Amino acid sequence: MIFRQLYDQESSTYTYLIAVRDGGEALLIDPVLERVPQYLKLLQELDVKLLLAVDTHVHADHVTGLGALRTETGCTTVMGEQSHADCVSLKVTEGEQLRVDGVRLEVMYTPGHTDDSYSLLLPDRVFTGDTLLIRGTGRTDFQNGDPAAQYDSLFNKLLKLPEDTLVYPAHDYNGMTVSTIGEERRHNPRLQVSSQAEYVELMNALEFASPKLMDIAVPANLACGNKVIPGGVR
Ligand code: FE
Repeated sequence: MIFRQLYDQESSTYTYLIAVRDGGEALLIDPVLERVPQYLKLLQELDVKLLLAVDTHVHADHVTGLGALRTETGCTTVMGEQSHADCVSLKVTEGEQLRVDGVRLEVMYTPGHTDDSYSLLLPDRVFTGDTLLIRGTGRTDFQNGDPAAQYDSLFNKLLKLPEDTLVYPAHDYNGMTVSTIGEERRHNPRLQVSSQAEYVELMNALEFASPKLMDIAVPANLACGNKVIPGGVR
């Protein structure tokens, strides 16, 4: 498998490229608009054709590259069925599969950070979006976030995966690149709770500043990165 983990310093976002063979098809997860030229160059260098570009959820901290990639490559843009983004060509839901060449990614609905948050599962690794981060979990205080739903997504879905499943999140702010389900179960401070109520209490006690790009990123992402509305949403 061809696998690349790409990083956008501005938003601390990880973007993942998956392909199988030279001359074959590729998939990108969580592309960042400003990085699209880099992705296009890499796709060309690796001699792969972008078939699918997927966002794990509507991001609040960077503008998506989905629209630009679709324009440039004719790829299919993919999000979960709950997404209100208006240029998504294919909406997926729990239990469906995304296929590139022989690789199948299983679609897991993992709401909580947002109500349109999804994870994507390969046999040995899971792309967790902002549901499960390395030693953290995605904030649940905006964009229809729900800590109770996030508890379910974590404890009843992601943590049920085999312990050695690699965890690739959508962001990292601390220099970490990859973890495993077992490592997170043991060492992630957010996962050391004994009940859903305790998790909800923990999450509700957290205070966050709004992401610096939120007023630009959310409306732009609802338009798949194509229209940035000055002044943002209220
Ligand atoms: Fe997010």
